[in-house]
Amino acid sequence: MLGTGTPNADPDRYGPSVAVVVDDTSYLVDFGVGVVRRAAAAERAGIAALGATKLTRAFATHLHSDHTLGLADLILTPWILERTTPLTLYGPRGLRAMTDHLIAAYAEDIRIRTRGGEPKHQHDPGLVAVHEIKPGMIYRDERVTVTAFTVPHGAWEQAFGYRFQTPDRTIVISGDTGPDSHIEDQCRRCDVLVHEVYSEAGFKKRPPEWQAYHSRYHTSAPQLGAIATRAQPALLVLYHQLIWSSTEEDLLKEVQSAYNGKVVSAHDLDIF
Ligand SMILES: [Zn+2]
Ligand SMILES: [Zn+2]
Repeated sequence: MLGTGTPNADPDRYGPSVAVVVDDTSYLVDFGVGVVRRAAAAERAGIAALGATKLTRAFATHLHSDHTLGLADLILTPWILERTTPLTLYGPRGLRAMTDHLIAAYAEDIRIRTRGGEPKHQHDPGLVAVHEIKPGMIYRDERVTVTAFTVPHGAWEQAFGYRFQTPDRTIVISGDTGPDSHIEDQCRRCDVLVHEVYSEAGFKKRPPEWQAYHSRYHTSAPQLGAIATRAQPALLVLYHQLIWSSTEEDLLKEVQSAYNGKVVSAHDLDIF
């Protein structure tokens, strides 16, 4: 878990980003604020696949800023640090325009770093390969098969969750989703289900207009308990926790009110 946060500026929880690591290769899902620093922290903790120059593949769930604020970081920082190949991105419609705008926004930086005396870089940072995807199998190599599926996330026309099949495990990541995602059809006794969640107790103290928003865009802990009961993951991992005035212990209890399986509330840099 590189970042487990939300739009809230919690200094302990960086922007949402999950890394699926297979051997020496990493696959990122989302790139919230601080993604490259968090990956570097994971590298320092022993995961070589998360070194900055090895961040070459990323999958965006949707284009909400909390999930994408690290995109400029992901394009530029590893480039400066001599990543040998350009970044490849997969995600919803609009990802290409976002990428192009960020590259344009940093045109002066790229110009100075290219022609201003820095040693020659390994690739052109403008050459990001962007794949705007549809649901289904969207990526395969000798280590993973990645399937994208749509999730309901309020007014977003496209929001995805991802299912990673690796040689030894199946990992399903919800992204941001309301409760009617049918994610159990993607999990079906998967090894790890990483799912967003909000606290029902905290929610009840929110103003009505925010309650209307959260219930349309996100999944409450009791709702997630019911979903996990249908999905039967070996491990349910909570991330993107909206807790508000509640506590993490209460959040877990709310999930467990409807779910008997193993569940943990993740923190940044946890490994599962
Ligand atoms: Zn979010
Ligand atoms: Zn969102």
